[in-house]
Amino acid sequence: MSVRVRFAPSPSGSLHVGNVRTALFNWLFARKNKGVFILRIEDTDVERTFYSAYQGILEDLSWLGLNWDEGPYRQSERLDIYKSYAIRFLEEGLAYKCFCSPEELEREREKAIKEGRPPRYSGKCANLSPEEVSRLEAKGISYSIRFKIPKDAYFVVDDIIRGRIEFDVNAITGDFIILRSDGMPTYNFAVVIDDYLMKITHVIRGEDHLSNTPRQLLIYKALGVEPPRFAHLPMIVGSDRSKLSKREGSLSIKELREQGFLPEGVVNYLALLGWSPKGEEIKTLDELVEEFSLEEVSPSPSAYDPAKLRWINRQHILRLDEEKLLEYAKPFLGDLNNYPKDWLLKAIVSIREYAETLSDIPRYIEKYYLSDINLDKSYKEELILGKKAIETFLNLLRETEDLSVIDNVFKEAIKISGVKGRRFYHPIRLAITGYESGPELVEFIPILGKDRCIERLERALKFLEE
Ligand code: GLU
Repeated sequence: MSVRVRFAPSPSGSLHVGNVRTALFNWLFARKNKGVFILRIEDTDVERTFYSAYQGILEDLSWLGLNWDEGPYRQSERLDIYKSYAIRFLEEGLAYKCFCSPEELEREREKAIKEGRPPRYSGKCANLSPEEVSRLEAKGISYSIRFKIPKDAYFVVDDIIRGRIEFDVNAITGDFIILRSDGMPTYNFAVVIDDYLMKITHVIRGEDHLSNTPRQLLIYKALGVEPPRFAHLPMIVGSDRSKLSKREGSLSIKELREQGFLPEGVVNYLALLGWSPKGEEIKTLDELVEEFSLEEVSPSPSAYDPAKLRWINRQHILRLDEEKLLEYAKPFLGDLNNYPKDWLLKAIVSIREYAETLSDIPRYIEKYYLSDINLDKSYKEELILGKKAIETFLNLLRETEDLSVIDNVFKEAIKISGVKGRRFYHPIRLAITGYESGPELVEFIPILGKDRCIERLERALKFLEE
């Protein structure tokens, strides 16, 4: 049977790292097994559903490269389906109409809490006679449909990540609503009807849904079908092991994108939350597909580490194809986009190793190539010692037309001046870049251009005389 999995977000806000790790693991599992990845939008909670969030989900997944094969299905467009199954359950005696008002239910709930009992529905309407039901309906009293929990509801699940889990449903829940009086299905009902109709083979989702699993198993049983395999992913926690919070940095994918993280970096980092590859941690999406294994996901919570995310992102900036890096960087470059493409490409490549995010790129281009350099007082001594090297190099540079052979100019200057190694290069670096470290000089000088190099070298010579 071919693998069919789904990502089923509720469009109530931006996708954050937790949701997307779930999407990613589903996607990797589908791709690895040559299966189908389905996108389903769980938008039956009208008050918490936003169109912008729906669009955001599609945008974020596309940006990350997590393409879907079916969908997006929207639960709000499938209400008739859920209703027909609720009616089927009514007819089969597996569910009943509940006429209790929200106020009445709330009173019962409060009473239970006060008396130290778990708040459960009393089952009152389960015992209404058909005549009473007709009478209440004739009076126009609205009703919800409740699922009747059988006496001996006990399940054992073999979760792919968490192993054997037992559920004694009677100890967990009372009869629960499957269809609200306004015709909307509840989550636990709609999710099973959809997973069943969409022939989902594996439900891969956050561990926070573990408590919903027994109710869902009841629905599968009522449908008379085998449930899919379950894999509950470990929670993502903050560095202090508490619930992940905004304090830990940017958590929405949109924010990460706007801050200049690469999709490659985000996906690679998220894949490591709960799973670890053998060997190298830096992987492309294709390599992740190749190596990913759901069985190897650890059940213990994974800590979100923004510093590691930045480190991984940097590794991807370093490895990216140059043209692609320029393409990715464009939205972050502002006025720099007006520079000739060739120049920009070389400048970006020369400073890429310093950038953790794309938004660092214009800062480093500005720092090394565009802003006036300010020679630090502490450089003076070294510049004085390097005067001969600087002067010799400057003289030769004046006569050089082709900066692509700058290496030969260096060799020549070393020969003439008799200064070599660090004592030759370092004062020149200070003079030309303004910093103790930076891009390779052979790369740097052609990008800066002959005139500006000469200008900077002359300034340094003046500065060491001051
Ligand atoms: N709509 C649910 C959520 O956003 C998905 C539940 C599931 O995967 O079963 O958490």
